[in-house]
Amino acid sequence: MNVTSGIESGFDIKDIRQHFPILQRQVKGKPLIYFDNAATSQKPQIVLDALSNYYGHYNANIHRGIHTLAEEATAAFEETRDAIRDFIHAGHREEIIFTKGTTESINLVAYTWGRANIQDGDEILISNMEHHSNIVPWQILCKEKNALLKIIPVNDEGELDMEAYKKLISHKTKLVSVVHVSNALGTINPVKDIIRLAHQAGAVVLIDGAQSAVHLDIDVAEMDCDFFAFSMHKLFGPTGVGILYGKKDILENMPPFMGGGEMIKEVHFDKTTYASLPYKFEAGTPNIADVNACKAALVFIDKIGKENLRQHENELLAYATRELKKIDGLHIIGNAKHKVSVISFIVDKIHPQDLGILLDNSGIAVRTGHHCTQPLMQRFGIPGTVRASFSVYNTTEEIDTFVLALKKAIKMLA
Ligand code: PMP
Repeated sequence: MNVTSGIESGFDIKDIRQHFPILQRQVKGKPLIYFDNAATSQKPQIVLDALSNYYGHYNANIHRGIHTLAEEATAAFEETRDAIRDFIHAGHREEIIFTKGTTESINLVAYTWGRANIQDGDEILISNMEHHSNIVPWQILCKEKNALLKIIPVNDEGELDMEAYKKLISHKTKLVSVVHVSNALGTINPVKDIIRLAHQAGAVVLIDGAQSAVHLDIDVAEMDCDFFAFSMHKLFGPTGVGILYGKKDILENMPPFMGGGEMIKEVHFDKTTYASLPYKFEAGTPNIADVNACKAALVFIDKIGKENLRQHENELLAYATRELKKIDGLHIIGNAKHKVSVISFIVDKIHPQDLGILLDNSGIAVRTGHHCTQPLMQRFGIPGTVRASFSVYNTTEEIDTFVLALKKAIKMLA
């Protein structure tokens, strides 16, 4: 399927905003200001068009059909796989597995690779800034296998303590699973160093790229991670599509995840053989419409250019950080040297949720709470934060409106 973005060349914020119909809507009588991009991004028109084009023109189940519609749907599905492979610079298309999100991607590794490779007394290393989806699957696995989950600490700035990491890693470490970019703090972790040290100790590495894939250039081959997981809904794509990248030789040696149609070669009551990669891990009818629309999201990103996107987001981050620091009693949680456009903060004596409600009354969507990182909140001794996260379509004018509304809310609640 040919998809064109319609995006003008060069970085034109007005043009970019026009591609997002939702930005035209009002919330509580005010123009929507959407600062919850770390939770999910909004979708450009080409992604919406790709969804309706699939259902309106070539809706069919894939891989099994020989009729025209099935062939078209299959071709579009497999083209998205190729586009994802290019996007993260994987060596082989078989290394790209479609799941329903980062959560399922991590669970797939825990339930297949984990159960086949983790034994009594082994250690799994994660960090104190992990999302629950990169904690709980390993807790379940460790409990089942009598293995040990060890935690890399986080310093006061919200960065990983790399010296502590070096001490934690040993020949007992079988897996290191860390987040590339923290959803709660915005910290960019030094994953290349983490991976190199883990490999020296003989451990396998999973990188949770849920927050990094949209902001950073991802090159899994250069990074040398064994697994990389992310969700397309944070990259202007539809919900319900996740990616698991895995090195081919590791995936080939893993047992399947779910059993059913699509993932088999032959089924007999006395013996079943499995399909080759990547289909071994894609049981059942996949999320065809949403996967196919993901290609449009990648075309959109490509047309803007990651470098332009990052530059714009970094400008917003610097501007917002400067403005928020001027507010008395406001403390930014997470001041890492290397950050993406995420700002978490607390305000003395005010509950984050109360601020969130008042901001919503001004049409401003921010996230409040623990951001599925309760152990990180415990580390900082707080119940949660207010989190503003910026995307390519946000503006400094929106930040001005946000800061004004925030000051007003603080005054009301103080
Ligand atoms: N890891 C991180 C760092 C995240 O930010 C998220 C989503 N908030 C996830 C994992 C889980 O992603 P999903 O809900 O799309 O499976």
